[in-house]
Amino acid sequence: MAKKQEGNRTISQLDKTIPTSQRVIAWPRMGNIDLSMEALVSAIGAKIVMPPPNNKEALEIGVKNSIEGICLPYKLNLANYIMALEKGANTLMMFQAPGSCRFGNYTKMAQKTLKDMGYEFDMCVFDMYQSKMKQTLKAFWHVSHCWNPYRYYKGFSTGFNKAFAIDTAERLMFYIRPRELNKGDAERCYKKWYKIIHDTTSLFGCKKLKKQVIEDFRKIPIDENKMVPKVYLLGEFFVLLDPYTNKEIEKTLGELGVEVERQIFFSDWLEHVLQPSFLYKKESHRERCVRYAEKYMKRAIGGETIETIGDTVYAAQNGIDGVIHIMPFSCMPEIVSQNILTKVSKEEDIPVMTLVLDEQTGKAGYQTRIEAFVDLVKRKKMKNMQNT
Ligand code: SF4
Repeated sequence: MAKKQEGNRTISQLDKTIPTSQRVIAWPRMGNIDLSMEALVSAIGAKIVMPPPNNKEALEIGVKNSIEGICLPYKLNLANYIMALEKGANTLMMFQAPGSCRFGNYTKMAQKTLKDMGYEFDMCVFDMYQSKMKQTLKAFWHVSHCWNPYRYYKGFSTGFNKAFAIDTAERLMFYIRPRELNKGDAERCYKKWYKIIHDTTSLFGCKKLKKQVIEDFRKIPIDENKMVPKVYLLGEFFVLLDPYTNKEIEKTLGELGVEVERQIFFSDWLEHVLQPSFLYKKESHRERCVRYAEKYMKRAIGGETIETIGDTVYAAQNGIDGVIHIMPFSCMPEIVSQNILTKVSKEEDIPVMTLVLDEQTGKAGYQTRIEAFVDLVKRKKMKNMQNT
């Protein structure tokens, strides 16, 4: 396997022996990221194989082939690769970011494990924090050798528009679910739009999706006057975006009558990471977090720690009723957050609950803790309303 160096860093572990026409591409599952990736990769003419969505079988495969202490997202990523390779993939794509946690080593560890298991493949790694769009274009050119700029334009445009549309649908579902008059309307509408967004391939069609999603969700009858507490959901990136790993926490909260505001969406991240900074005019989510976290943290220390702290302070100062912090077991940055959050919760006077997830986490105990927290948040909100 050839290694290509650019400057003093390895940008991809590129295997040029696989002819472009025979490449079959896969990437790890994580929330709705597939909608955008599929749009982009198909637009540039590459073949795709999708591993099944994360589930019990994937978790078992990941646990069996990983070292015990490694974090849960790695185990599922590894399982996704194994399941995709078994289905015929020969090119694995992976985002990478340097930093002070294990994420910087995911690709090297996965590569070694998969080679030791006897798989033949090319791993195409792109570090989006280094040169953003340039890294991304290089990676996609490597797997497709597509020279047609229109195809890239179509891929990025449809991919971005799909990400914005599905994230809008999710946000609206979080708002409507605790207020809907007919149980299940919001979820049915979301599922309907997921399929439409997935099946839409034209440039023009994708551009209209977000507006159509908003118009359709607005038709759902809701109780505008219902007392609905609002809770911020924050923590580690993967567990926030992956419904299997977080046991559909947004649905549980919505059904308990709580509006959830998840602090990380793939489209926000895409917009911020891929867009050149001179085009990004507004204050980014991360910049806001750095500003609000200042009293408790002077600098980012990796993972989503600064976002976790900054968002909690912001929540407390902006009338949010509570914060749920979710993290994988042994997540290094979020263990730091968990410790700081105790102080933030006390000083900023906001209820905070941390939920730690691993392969042993059972649904029943998890649900009970969420229900107890929701009770606390509702009582606090009622008390505040009586006092005003
Ligand atoms: S942020 Fe946490 S869970 Fe994610 S890679 Fe780093 S240590 Fe693992």
